Amino acid sequence: MIKSASGQGATLTEMYAHFNKLHFGGQLATYTVRQDLTGKDGVMGTCIPSERLISLNENLVGGELIGELLHEMIHVAVGHHGVAFAREVERLIRAGETSLDTDAHRRAAFSLS
Ligand SMILES: [Zn+2]
Repeated sequence: MIKSASGQGATLTEMYAHFNKLHFGGQLATYTVRQDLTGKDGVMGTCIPSERLISLNENLVGGELIGELLHEMIHVAVGHHGVAFAREVERLIRAGETSLDTDAHRRAAFSLS
C-alpha cells in the first residue's frame, strides 16, 4: 500500500517526480518512494540505488517527511554526504524548501552514516 503524504493529495512517488522536475531538471532516475521503515532503530530514510527505491520512516509527517524525501533525493543526485551534498541542501533551501532549513539537516549533510 502506498501512503499519501498528509495534505498533499499526492503519493510520495508523485512528489519525488514533482521535486525531480522542480529542482533537478528531471535528471534524476525514476525512483519509487515508500514510507515503510519502522521507527525502532531511528533511521529516518534510506536510498537503495540498485532497486531505485527510497524508504522513509513511518513516523514522519508534514515538513519532516518532505525534508527527509528531499534529503534522500540529494543522495540520488550526488551520492554520499559531504561538501557536494551540503551544497545541494543549501541550493534547495534557497529555492524555498524550508523543510531542509534545520540544524539536523545541515549536520546530516556531513555525517558519516
Ligand atoms: Zn543521508
